[in-house]
Amino acid sequence: MAQQLPQTVAETSHYLSTSRYEDVMNFVGAIQRADSGIRVETFATTNEGRALPLVIAGPPGVVDPASARATGLPVVFIMANIHAGEVEGKEAAQMLLRDLISTHRKLRSQMIVLVAPIYNADGNERISTENRKTQHGPEHGVGVRENAQGLDLNRDYMKLETPEARGLIHNVIARWDPLISVDLHTTNGSYHGYQLTYSPMLNPNAAEELIDFERSTLLPQIRTAMKKRHNKETFYYGNFVDQLMPEKGWYTFDQRPRFGNNYVGLRNRFVILSEAYSYIDFRARVDVTYEFVHEILRAVEDNARKMQRLAAKADEMIRRGKFRKSGVRFEIKPWKETEVLWERCTPSDPGHGAPDPWTEKGLITRTGEIVPVKMMNYGVFAATERNDVPYAYVIDAAATHQIETLRLHGIVVETLNEETKLDSEQFVIGDASHAEHEFQKHHELTLTGKWKSRSETFPAGTFIVRMNQPLARLAFYLLEPRSDDGLINWNAFDELLERAKIAPVRRVMKAVGLSARAVSSAGSPAE
Ligand SMILES: [Zn+2]
Repeated sequence: MAQQLPQTVAETSHYLSTSRYEDVMNFVGAIQRADSGIRVETFATTNEGRALPLVIAGPPGVVDPASARATGLPVVFIMANIHAGEVEGKEAAQMLLRDLISTHRKLRSQMIVLVAPIYNADGNERISTENRKTQHGPEHGVGVRENAQGLDLNRDYMKLETPEARGLIHNVIARWDPLISVDLHTTNGSYHGYQLTYSPMLNPNAAEELIDFERSTLLPQIRTAMKKRHNKETFYYGNFVDQLMPEKGWYTFDQRPRFGNNYVGLRNRFVILSEAYSYIDFRARVDVTYEFVHEILRAVEDNARKMQRLAAKADEMIRRGKFRKSGVRFEIKPWKETEVLWERCTPSDPGHGAPDPWTEKGLITRTGEIVPVKMMNYGVFAATERNDVPYAYVIDAAATHQIETLRLHGIVVETLNEETKLDSEQFVIGDASHAEHEFQKHHELTLTGKWKSRSETFPAGTFIVRMNQPLARLAFYLLEPRSDDGLINWNAFDELLERAKIAPVRRVMKAVGLSARAVSSAGSPAE
């Protein structure tokens, strides 16, 4: 007997509306009723009290991360609606769930799929036709970008100031350790010829083998499949630096791990950022996102063993002390000359046209004509300043709040059992300057200074973060005083820095025996 499978709000409204939180919860409930093998966890509770669902679709017997690991199957994490104005991922994610209990049930013997269909639930409930007005539907409006605190969840991956991000990192990313994470968005940047653009991890501190594999194998394979099977054009995310002069180049966005795609790379795992094109209609955006996610799953199925080996190797290299030097400051670089599909635009007279959607300068008119243009793809970053990776960082015993953030990330932190004398280095501060411009309710802090050797005695209870752990790339980024996205940058140490001449994070360069014990497991995960 044919089962009654649920429909999304997008489908039942003929693509005039997007789902509310309650609609998504009802949909997930219907999926569970139709298939008792589907599990649902709450991974966070929002500021307004909404429980965020994580739907788990795997083979029978997979009930938690331990049983997932025991299968040896890859864990794939699909997340939608981090920006609640960008709604098609939320609809496509629900359609995927329906497939996973019907047409694509077989996939669940190949992988464990985790789906978080509505990450920014509070932002989603602020649906209005006033939001994202340049986006082509849905006609009945979309939610807002920020969460209820007014914070952008896609800038919160490092500092973890929102309950959503704390739950995501602790209960999904650290706990389930997905081999690949997929983050679904919509872009309203430049006018180009792609229905969807995508990005891998952009921070060059990620393991080179992972970056190479995404760029040389995984993404090209998915792109080819999108063209062959769906006849749709997709490409690396970017914007024309000048919509009227495309030959000036195609630029990607940012390398900092406050963005999810860059963050996941620092954890030695794979990631794909998906950006449906805001100027095609809502239904087309749902369709292309849905197809893209399916092609990702297919590519993971094909490449799972290789990807698992590469991720395990990236972890192992760090354990063996092969992570020696890493960047703290970066710049965008030309990657390669390539053809990019440009929408021809022409200058317009005052009173006509609209500003360039990316630079917001000038007045231009769209022609609808798509032309391939050869240009430089500024699609990669390189470090402009690199530092040695120490054996361990040493952090003041008073920094309990900062340590809690490290532990939510899954970083192993220890405390000294006894007073210990160590050959350590201090970062002697030259200048400490807060950004004039407020960003995410912060004035980001930039330190300059120099590391100086000094033998110091540290009291019992001092925190230690050793860098021979798999999350060392992330720990380095969070703790280096000069890091452009670390805890010091985000003002986490401002109080301890008052009038200080020395950064509150020391480093020990050479391996040394330490009498220390691990700080016990992080508390209240879903807070
Ligand atoms: Zn977005």
